Amino acid sequence: MRNSEQQTTETAPVLPVVPWRSGSVKQPKDFSKAMAKLIDITKCTGCKGCQVACKNWNQLPAQVEKYNGSYQSHKDTLGLTYTVVKFYEPKTSGDPVWFFRKHQCMHCGEAICVQRCPHFALSYTQVGSIIRDYKKCMGCGTCIKVCEYNIPKRDYTLLKNKPRQCVYCYDRVVNGLTPLCVKTCPSNALSYGPLKEILDKAKKRVSEIKGKYPAANVYGGEDLNIGPNNVIYVLPEGADKYDLPQNPKPVMNGTGPGPGMMGRETMGPGNMGPGMRR
Ligand code: SF4
Ligand code: SF4
Ligand code: SF4
Repeated sequence: MRNSEQQTTETAPVLPVVPWRSGSVKQPKDFSKAMAKLIDITKCTGCKGCQVACKNWNQLPAQVEKYNGSYQSHKDTLGLTYTVVKFYEPKTSGDPVWFFRKHQCMHCGEAICVQRCPHFALSYTQVGSIIRDYKKCMGCGTCIKVCEYNIPKRDYTLLKNKPRQCVYCYDRVVNGLTPLCVKTCPSNALSYGPLKEILDKAKKRVSEIKGKYPAANVYGGEDLNIGPNNVIYVLPEGADKYDLPQNPKPVMNGTGPGPGMMGRETMGPGNMGPGMRR
């Protein structure tokens, strides 16, 4: 059931609409207009409301996995499951703690999936998020292979095995609305706003919690060699404790995953070499 704000837009599309900047030229992200989502791990209660909201807005059917002894519902993202709340119990010298991390596409500042797609199917939207043009996507799987966050997954049900990932609620954000996962979060672990404001908010929050969590840090900001991303975390512990790569390979210097790790079918005009950005 959609609330009154949600009713201000048309029916949520199953497929993302044609993206801004779709074309034959790979454009870099325009950071001056980028928006960002903050995920504050210290405020998340693991309720999974964001997961359900995402399914609802994007009209994604349930994908049931066998119970494996964890409260975590799915091992990872799936073609029809854009976001998953992961459960972690870091070892501490004091009382036991339990953290939850909302896992989804990071909408990277320098997105290797955009850069390496040989069919120019991925591009940045006007708010800096990543979107896929399914008319161009051939389902070659290059984006799946190069993403260090292990995000895009094939949709074996609705989209002829083509990959999918979080669409950053494209139809909402371009109409000035917040992504529905953010709007739904009952504990204010999620927030959304202009990139600079979100980065400042994240840094302020880290300074507030340093006493309790000495290793607290901002993840996904300017310090990340592919950032700033459109998804920023406040982490109470190091990134390695949350399955996040500490140093994702940068796109620009050519050390990122290259043609050698891809199948021959992925080679094409869009699979540019080191140093080529457009
Ligand atoms: S997290 Fe993966 S799929 Fe998402 S923008 Fe980054 S490289 Fe692309
Ligand atoms: S931004 Fe939208 S599509 Fe992405 S995880 Fe949140 S609700 Fe799902
Ligand atoms: S809705 Fe908010 S509190 Fe609940 S799991 Fe998602 S991020 Fe955490």
